[in-house]
Amino acid sequence: MCGIVGAVAQRDVAEILVEGLRRLEYRGYDSAGVAVVDADLELKRVRRLGKVQELADAVDAQDVTGGTGIAHTRWATHGEPSEANAHPHVSGDIAVVHNGIIENHEELRALLQERGYVFQSQTDTEVIAHLVEWERRSSETLVEALQKTAAQLDGAYGTVVVDRKDPSRIVAARSGSPIVIGFGVGENFLASDQLALLSVTRRFMYLEEGDVAEITRREVKVLDVEGNPVEREITESNAEHDAGDKGQYRHFMQKEIFEQPRALVNTMEGRVTDKAVVTEAIGVNAVDILKKVEHVQIIACGTSYNSGMAARYWFESIAGVSCDVEIASEFRYRDFVVRPNSLLVTLSQSGETADTLAALRLAKEKGYMSAMTICNVAVHLWFANLTLHL
Ligand code: GLU
Repeated sequence: MCGIVGAVAQRDVAEILVEGLRRLEYRGYDSAGVAVVDADLELKRVRRLGKVQELADAVDAQDVTGGTGIAHTRWATHGEPSEANAHPHVSGDIAVVHNGIIENHEELRALLQERGYVFQSQTDTEVIAHLVEWERRSSETLVEALQKTAAQLDGAYGTVVVDRKDPSRIVAARSGSPIVIGFGVGENFLASDQLALLSVTRRFMYLEEGDVAEITRREVKVLDVEGNPVEREITESNAEHDAGDKGQYRHFMQKEIFEQPRALVNTMEGRVTDKAVVTEAIGVNAVDILKKVEHVQIIACGTSYNSGMAARYWFESIAGVSCDVEIASEFRYRDFVVRPNSLLVTLSQSGETADTLAALRLAKEKGYMSAMTICNVAVHLWFANLTLHL
């Protein structure tokens, strides 16, 4: 689950959108994109594989103007990381960004192909764009089209839609993946995380499960899962962008202990459906890789090592998969034997622990079939083909 930002304003929003994406970079992503409706009702879409900075440069070079837009950083789950798979996805006049996973995307894709839609990407997201386009034809409003679309989607998602022909509004739906609306003066915003919007507002409203919202410059309307208008609480945020603040706690360890419930919810949001954990959320090839795993080797340092020891008990007792845990600095300086079909798991809060990174590099050279990294910052982990950002 990655990043979403949206805006409806009188001023040009491209810069606000890109700045919002920058603030979400900590989550990790493989590509980024933006779509803005300009004064001639043209949809200007720019997408780039790689860093938000590359997108920012491209947006600057193309002089993207307009007051209504949506933006996204993608963490690929369906379809490789590429420009063609990057969001926003477009169908006719409709542009869509989406976090999470659409479980029934194959059935929907087949249905939409029968209706004549031609798919431009390998993503599950593109079905949302075509479905909204289809439903828009028989709906009075864009929000109605999104409601009808949401009723057909199975999975955990947050999605935001814009219609090129009507830039006075953007609409959003939340089902398992957070959407927060930010209130400005004569302009409104939305994002998957309030951090993205702290440079433009401090007043926020969180959508609840099943909600669909319509956001204009002056107004925000929310409908619950049954389609009834509802009021959701607006709160004033005193959040700091800097997560490295001890806040009310005596020390960081105490803070982390108290943050555990929230951290778990944040980690699982968008990665679970009512049926199961969505395996693709940790990598495009995760399902195939995990099927083959016969042994797990965990490598970490410090408290990450302690959590690895707890995980070892669960791997063996719940999953029935043998598991070893070792301190990275030991592992990297000894001769180790790689068991067939082993998955190497590195745990590092910062993602920068030098011994852990060195062990990961070495282990891959020595023939581990695959590696998974669990960390809570976005770092370039060159060997891990599976990643869980916390
Ligand atoms: N499942 C979508 C994709 O693969 C969205 C992934 C995300 O949450 O960034 O494009």
